[in-house]
Amino acid sequence: MNVTDIIHGALAQGKTRFAFELLPPLKGDGMQGTFAAIDPLMEFDPAYINVTFHRESLKQTLRADGSAEWHVVRRRPGTVGISAAIRKKYGVETVPHLICGGLSRYDIEDALIDMDFLGLHNVLALRGDKSQNEERFAPHPQGHAHAADLVRQIAAMNRGEFVDGEVEVCHHSKFSVGVAGYPETHEEAPSPEADLAHLKAKIDAGADYIVTQLFYDNTCFFDFVRRCREAGIGVPIIPGIKPLSTVRHLTLLPETFGCRIPDELRREVEAHRDDKAAVRRIGTEWAIAQSRELKAAGVPVLHYYPMGKAENIIEIAKTVF
Ligand code: FAD
Repeated sequence: MNVTDIIHGALAQGKTRFAFELLPPLKGDGMQGTFAAIDPLMEFDPAYINVTFHRESLKQTLRADGSAEWHVVRRRPGTVGISAAIRKKYGVETVPHLICGGLSRYDIEDALIDMDFLGLHNVLALRGDKSQNEERFAPHPQGHAHAADLVRQIAAMNRGEFVDGEVEVCHHSKFSVGVAGYPETHEEAPSPEADLAHLKAKIDAGADYIVTQLFYDNTCFFDFVRRCREAGIGVPIIPGIKPLSTVRHLTLLPETFGCRIPDELRREVEAHRDDKAAVRRIGTEWAIAQSRELKAAGVPVLHYYPMGKAENIIEIAKTVF
């Protein structure tokens, strides 16, 4: 079953399903760590599991003379393979992410063909972030500048149109496509209105649903849904939730994800800054309260970002699902 059908099924039944996101293992690691993270979450009957996609990063080493040398490294390859392995082991649908950054249209097509052969018919289509040595995101010379172009490529492939034209005999892929949305506006967008217009372009290009960037104030999400609907975006919108778990998150999360930490949450965390367990509990309770309110509002799926640490997601899922 594809994820779009799962989401619409949940909406039709008035249910809220549980879903979560994982990173592929670090290069050289096996799959056991990933499976160990998934095992305790399976009791909550995940609707699907997302697997992130990682482009190259830069690593600095020092030469004998003390000067710096930069190397391109790709630390987490294997998104497509681990997505297929998870689907096979647990019988749950997986959603590999696919990005524009660092990839040509042919690289993207190859990945999509592999996914199709492996029975993966879901994809989250993203642009990806700029690489560490770029001031602005620079597309691959034969690649895409915006996620909407990637969605267009996937939609074309679903129609049997490949990068170098149509083929004579075509097995049509049927990818269900999700895209990212930003309740608090993407950092590069000149205005919330422009960001929304760009989101609409992704839907018009063929995306089936939206997964949001993480947020800590549900009013941002509700306002975003209202603005999307007013802008003519009718597809399901899945909220992304990440429990805050350390004091450092107070600065790191806004810097990395452009999200605002509500004063009440910030004050509570600050008041317990020397007690790691208390900070973790405050973050978990906040995410539980957020999840309950979103569930009561009828969202079809809650998408959790455990970022490798599943314990707090287990606590949240036990309480909410
Ligand atoms: P786009 O939709 O292309 O938008 C990027 C920016 O460009 C926005 O500011 C938008 O307003 C603007 N824009 C879009 N179209 C145009 C246009 N035609 N003209 C001018 N401006 C335009 N990153 C990864 O590397 N790997 C992952 O696995 C991953 N998973 C993610 C999952 C979710 C749910 C989310 C929310 C984000 C994820 N990201 C991931 C991060 C994402 O790649 C970044 O946020 C990236 O900076 C933007 O990606 P996008 O797909 O939203 O890009």
